[in-house]
Amino acid sequence: MKKALVTGAGGFIGHHLVNSLKAKGFYVVGVDIKQPEFDGSKADEFVIHDIRKETGEWLSLFQGVDDVWALAADMGGMGFISKNHAFIMKDNVLINITTLEAARKAKVKRYLYTSSACVYPDHLQTDTNVISLAEHMAYPANPQDGYGWEKLYTEKLCEYYEKEHSINMRIVRFHNIYGPLGTWQGGREKAPAAMCRKVAEAIEAGKDFIEIWGDGEQTRSFCYIDDCIKGLHLIMDSGYGQPLNLGRDKMVTINQLADTVMKAAGVCLRKVHVPGPQGVRGRNSDNALSRKVMGGWTPEISLEAGIQKTYAWINEQVQRTPVSLIS
Ligand code: NAD
Repeated sequence: MKKALVTGAGGFIGHHLVNSLKAKGFYVVGVDIKQPEFDGSKADEFVIHDIRKETGEWLSLFQGVDDVWALAADMGGMGFISKNHAFIMKDNVLINITTLEAARKAKVKRYLYTSSACVYPDHLQTDTNVISLAEHMAYPANPQDGYGWEKLYTEKLCEYYEKEHSINMRIVRFHNIYGPLGTWQGGREKAPAAMCRKVAEAIEAGKDFIEIWGDGEQTRSFCYIDDCIKGLHLIMDSGYGQPLNLGRDKMVTINQLADTVMKAAGVCLRKVHVPGPQGVRGRNSDNALSRKVMGGWTPEISLEAGIQKTYAWINEQVQRTPVSLIS
């Protein structure tokens, strides 16, 4: 039985990944500072540990591990990452250094690092109708903020660990992954979850509008969690060691995202545009290289289908959470 270690196993993507690894027959060790919030973990061992600290217990978890999936990160949506640059950089550098070091010491065979589309230069993303971002465009470097700089730094660190310590590396740049069992309130939620919550709350409160940060014409592509998990396994098994995009290449505006959520909810609410952090003006994934590496496959679940499932789950959370506890 092959052994996999997943960091960030209490988080959104990590939790779904653990389920998929169990379905594939792996022995799974999950590590996080917290249990998954919405569902029990299927990991064979779930260890609560602050990965910023390199302890004896931490190093011992890597004994006999074949694959490391490095997902742990101090992160969130635009509201969170635009205000916490110092902690994001500090925490994530520490998390990634201790994870790489433990993998090196235990002679782990394969290591997958989850980077982000935030590594791409700011100046390539100033228009709503942006050119799609291909992997080579990350340099010359000019990422958007502390989160992007840290991801780019760790990508380099991974490249050096591969060259000098013979770890078989994978580097995945996610483009906006969404779906059920993700953070939907509290300040760290990302745009699709926030939009679903706002619509569900508006219906609950009898309001005829939702608020949207900025003019809503900023563009993004959104990838449903099932596609993300399928892509992660294809990339891990591919043997390709350079950074790769994992996302959809169908760009929509945030206003269109709101319309898709309202359609799933069966309502039509007014969109009130208010000041708020928006990130880059436009962003889309170029999937030419990743499609080739993943044997011709590319994320295929439509925004409409993914949002239907996500809205249904978030609406359920809103219904069962007292209004005073929703933040
Ligand atoms: P998430 O916040 O749901 O999961 C991250 C997990 O890391 C959390 O459960 C958190 O508790 C854990 N963590 C944070 N600090 C820790 C520490 N010191 N020790 C142990 N665990 C710690 O985020 P996610 O959406 O599942 O993202 C997973 C990975 O993918 C992250 O590296 C993230 O940066 C990257 N990513 C995600 C997206 C996306 O759209 N969701 C986009 C780009 C990149």
